[in-house]
Amino acid sequence: MMFEKFGKISYVPNSKVAKFVEYLEEGKLTGTKCRKCGTLYVPPKADCVECLDDDMEWVELSGDCTLHTYTTIHASPAGFEDIAPYTLLVVDVKEGGRVMTWAEGIPEDELEIGMDLKLRVKTLDDGKLVYVAEKP
Ligand SMILES: [Zn+2]
Repeated sequence: MMFEKFGKISYVPNSKVAKFVEYLEEGKLTGTKCRKCGTLYVPPKADCVECLDDDMEWVELSGDCTLHTYTTIHASPAGFEDIAPYTLLVVDVKEGGRVMTWAEGIPEDELEIGMDLKLRVKTLDDGKLVYVAEKP
């Protein structure tokens, strides 16, 4: 499988971490961990920034996270006009790392910095895969 199935809009068809999308199809959120130095990458990286090794293993994540910050987009970029306005979140993943995602079913006035959230895989109408954050 190629990387183009990830995200509402795919910017690249290929990636050294394309297996991330295969795991999404199985409903699994994953990161990579360097076998040499133990650094965890969420989102996944194919090469370790810390020790420059490429011996990485896949690690399944719980989906547990906390809200770091958020914003609501009213003037959307190309490709996202059909869902605007929408709320983007930046969440701290329990196991480590920080990712951007969408709020799913949470009105902006119910969001609080530091609140517990849960990431889950969502399949869009066209079959593409994303992950969203909802109340646990
Ligand atoms: Zn490393």
